Amino acid sequence: MVNTNRHPYFEPAREPEYVFRFPLDRKEGRVAVNLREMVARHLRKLLDLLNLTWRGEEVKIDGFSLLSDPEAIFELYPEPKSGPKRETCDPLDIYEPRLGYVRHLAESLLDVVEFEFQGRRVAVDGFRLRRPDQWLSTVGGAADILAHAASRCNLNCRFCYNLGSPPAFRPAPRAPEEEYREILTRISHYVPASGVGLFPRMGGPCEFLLHPRIMDLLAALRRKTQETIRIPTNGSLLGVQTIKRLTEFRPLFLDVSLNSASPTRRRWLMRDPRPDTAIESMACLQAAGLPYSVVIVPWPFPSTRDMIDDLKDTVAFADKSDPAFFQISLPGYSRFFAERELFDSDKVWMKIKETVRALRGKTNSPLILRPGLYEEYQDPESVNDPRPIGVIKNSPADMAGLRAGDRILTLCGLAVKNRPQARSLLTLLHQSDRNRIPMTVQRQGGKVDLELEPSRFDYPYDPRTVGNLGIVFASSGLPPSWIENLRRVVVLRRASCVLLLTSRLIQPALDKMIREQAHFSNVVLYLRVPVNHYFGGNIFMGDLLVVEDFVRAVHDFLDERLGRPDLILLPSSPFHLSGWGRDLRGTVYKELERRVGIPVALVHCDPIFD
Ligand code: SF4
Repeated sequence: MVNTNRHPYFEPAREPEYVFRFPLDRKEGRVAVNLREMVARHLRKLLDLLNLTWRGEEVKIDGFSLLSDPEAIFELYPEPKSGPKRETCDPLDIYEPRLGYVRHLAESLLDVVEFEFQGRRVAVDGFRLRRPDQWLSTVGGAADILAHAASRCNLNCRFCYNLGSPPAFRPAPRAPEEEYREILTRISHYVPASGVGLFPRMGGPCEFLLHPRIMDLLAALRRKTQETIRIPTNGSLLGVQTIKRLTEFRPLFLDVSLNSASPTRRRWLMRDPRPDTAIESMACLQAAGLPYSVVIVPWPFPSTRDMIDDLKDTVAFADKSDPAFFQISLPGYSRFFAERELFDSDKVWMKIKETVRALRGKTNSPLILRPGLYEEYQDPESVNDPRPIGVIKNSPADMAGLRAGDRILTLCGLAVKNRPQARSLLTLLHQSDRNRIPMTVQRQGGKVDLELEPSRFDYPYDPRTVGNLGIVFASSGLPPSWIENLRRVVVLRRASCVLLLTSRLIQPALDKMIREQAHFSNVVLYLRVPVNHYFGGNIFMGDLLVVEDFVRAVHDFLDERLGRPDLILLPSSPFHLSGWGRDLRGTVYKELERRVGIPVALVHCDPIFD
């Protein structure tokens, strides 16, 4: 337990509430707007926030007429004019589009009127929230609040994902004191039990530990909640003293981007002037008993051979200091990062996958490849197989003798049919107060009975920081409930020709599940994979598709002349950021329907980085 009276960090903050301000785009002399166009713009903005209904049924509209002139119909969604595509969007339009609407409303009012105070014209260039607590929404957890402090980085990695992010997601640091006051206000409004808090403002976290008041913020969070805080860090500031201070804020879990255990390569790769700090931090974290994972982005330069040799050396080195697990991410880059092809992605990814698989069994800590589905997607049989790829050292699963490659057959006497079910059961059991968890596994053709004791564990496992009793799967698999959701939507919409757009990683397993389980009578279902045109580069993740990519995929499908769908189904994960159905450009998924003239529905599925 944290002693809140003992340490200076735990002095209660007496800061004034932060004022959330938003600038208005007030261009003097802007072209005067047609009043009818102003109404149309408002209606379009509103229709991106809500559905109109009549007697419980959704009503779609594509135009309006003014009561003063009912004959004149105004089209809401005329054909988009060709020209350069809009590259920027405001994160506000993604995370809290109602605020984006308020801003739009204010700006368009100021286009047609001027405000006065006591008879004199008042210039307005922004607005502020009257009551922040009116803007509460589901925000995730403590780590998401802390992410607002991670607005800058002290390194300059050759592969930095911030360089490959769309402009709206690039870090926009403000004065540290302003960020500090804002985060304190966020903490004060945070309701830990429900994960409700003030709407988020920015994505793209950089280095948390660089914020000069990070320890004060951790202390403030600890006064509010005892939940686990997971912090990604590049490790460059993880000196002995910092680690010692961090131990005061347990339960903490650190994802340390080591990337290379060679000082020469880390200096080159991350442009880290003091690579030894991060490299030595592994042993310090172990000594301090702080659980962590090691993150490695293998970067295929100067050659794939150098990358693989370094990957092996780095894993061998870090494994000695007991990370809970390794996360090895396939190297990716978008068109914002590089216009030209940087390397043969399939070749490099395959080489990394083979290396990771070969390393398994030789390390104490499990190796997870990210994205997990890449490992198995070409083998749909294995995607839902309840076989762990590893077990966290000293976890209840490890202590009970579970091994990588065992297939879980039963848990507490319940038959385990697939991986998503195994994971759900393990999550429930992890949170339960059971003393013993019987498990039967298939090993080398025979059956082995094991008994897991949740209270038997040691470092690096900590039940507060990792789940599933220490059992690690390659990916979360594809829940059969996904097919049920799909069927429900198709039946509800009375569709007979359905176009289902999915991602490259999901398609083979989804195709198999549909063929085996879906049994849609009198429904033709086509499965297609859109290309990530917007992100470009070698990005192929479905979660990074945007409406524009879906529009192109539908047009490509129509060009095949197989028939015109009466329903398009999209996975919900590319629109998961805020709960407002927006893609990463802030475009609402309904835009696809307007652009192609075919009804669109979302089917719930979790983001792939699970
Ligand atoms: S540590 Fe992360 S944010 Fe910083 S330069 Fe490297 S990739 Fe970018």
